[in-house]
Amino acid sequence: RTYTKIRQLLARQPLGETVRVAGWVRTRRDTGGFSFIEVNDGSCLGNLQVIADKRLGNYEAGIKRLTAGCSVEVEGTVQESPARGQAVELVAAEIKVVGWADPETYPLQKKRHSFEFLREIAHLRPRTNALGAVARVRSRLAYAVHAFFQERGFIQVHTPIITTSDCEGAGEMFQISTGQPSGGPGTDFFGRRAGLTVSGQLQAEVYALALGDVYTFGPTFRAENSNTSRHLAEFWMIEPEMAFCDLAGNRRIAEELLKYLLDDILAACAEDMELFDRFIAKGLVERLRSVAGQDFAHITYTEAVEELQHSGRTFDFPVRWGIDLQSEHERYLTDEVYRRPLVVTDYPAAIKPFYMRINDDGRTVAAMDILVPGIGEIVGGSQREERYEVLERRMQEAGIDLDDYRWYLDLRRYGTVPHAGFGLGFERLVQFVSGMANIREVIPFPRTPGFAPC
Ligand code: ATP
Ligand code: MG
Ligand code: MG
Ligand code: MG
Repeated sequence: RTYTKIRQLLARQPLGETVRVAGWVRTRRDTGGFSFIEVNDGSCLGNLQVIADKRLGNYEAGIKRLTAGCSVEVEGTVQESPARGQAVELVAAEIKVVGWADPETYPLQKKRHSFEFLREIAHLRPRTNALGAVARVRSRLAYAVHAFFQERGFIQVHTPIITTSDCEGAGEMFQISTGQPSGGPGTDFFGRRAGLTVSGQLQAEVYALALGDVYTFGPTFRAENSNTSRHLAEFWMIEPEMAFCDLAGNRRIAEELLKYLLDDILAACAEDMELFDRFIAKGLVERLRSVAGQDFAHITYTEAVEELQHSGRTFDFPVRWGIDLQSEHERYLTDEVYRRPLVVTDYPAAIKPFYMRINDDGRTVAAMDILVPGIGEIVGGSQREERYEVLERRMQEAGIDLDDYRWYLDLRRYGTVPHAGFGLGFERLVQFVSGMANIREVIPFPRTPGFAPC
């Protein structure tokens, strides 16, 4: 049986015809000889108003008992609506109640619920306007990410989830276990040590050094034992890796990608974006338009430190050259000084991973972070160290067992090339686009310390 999506009906297609829709009741109100039932099928923000005549066969036993959350199948005729604010309505010939929802216990009432409350009912929250809109926007952004890279000839590579390389070296890798006694503690991947990927970058480099421009877009995991509004234990990351590319080229692609995604989402999800603008972050659409329409700002890490030191601000974490920028520093720069995305490059080598390319000054690396208002870091990237001897020395200094990374060094032994890439956190992107204050609202099932609903 085929159903017409409400999204299509509200676009006035096809007027006058008989269609079938299926969805969930939002509200029902009875006046005179009719019931007016708002039905939502998730295809769009808008509800379809269904008009049910009292004379319908199951009116008393079925239709009149419909409450929020019940599922229905409706057959009816699409007609232009005389009411203001809605394009069409459906005059029902038949309403079939598919599933009841007890109004005494159904948690989604007509009032607006707090996001904290909705997290506790992660299995029902996509039925709300805001979370439904997030899901549609998230889906479209994922599609646009693939479109952007595919249009430019990038090859998508599926990098592994189970891996032995802790690429960031930050001790944030979840260890995995077969659940069977094997080689002893910490060696539980059939006698070896392995964990869940924190980034697909190192493996993406393998493919970049064969196929040129590649990207990976998949789930990553970090044992972040912190409760912030921008960290999750499981999140998705977009990681392009480009051969024959330096830091400047890397920056250009990252900026182009972000602008492309903003343009796309503002056009493709206009109605959902309006909702965020009205209820989540006032002025959002205008701000995103302006971000898409102007160049990002760019400063070096050293300039950022000077700017912070001369700000006259006292930060919780004092600023001096050599520290990793904290979220409070990033937010000061983006929210108060630049008020648009800011690319910060050339961080101290000591605070960045071994694979980033050492600059000629010997103490900074060709790294870039992109910071955005309201969030801070959204992209982290770099030009990679392509010189065998330099990389080997860096790895030794970092105390890395070279035997685990022979394959990675081999890429520099055989036909090495300058290459670069970055990681864009997908949830941070959705957060930026939707204006949601907390990252837990933009992933269907958030995983944070001690919390993993469903
Ligand atoms: P942060 O400083 O916020 O902890 P990071 O520097 O550790 O981020 P990177 O290793 O540079 O993160 O990862 C690349 C991108 O992945 C980040 O810019 C961010 O968008 C995203 N990201 C990193 N950690 C998380 C997380 N725990 N939850 C959601 N997104 C994340
Ligand atoms: Mg981190
Ligand atoms: Mg960081
Ligand atoms: Mg980073």
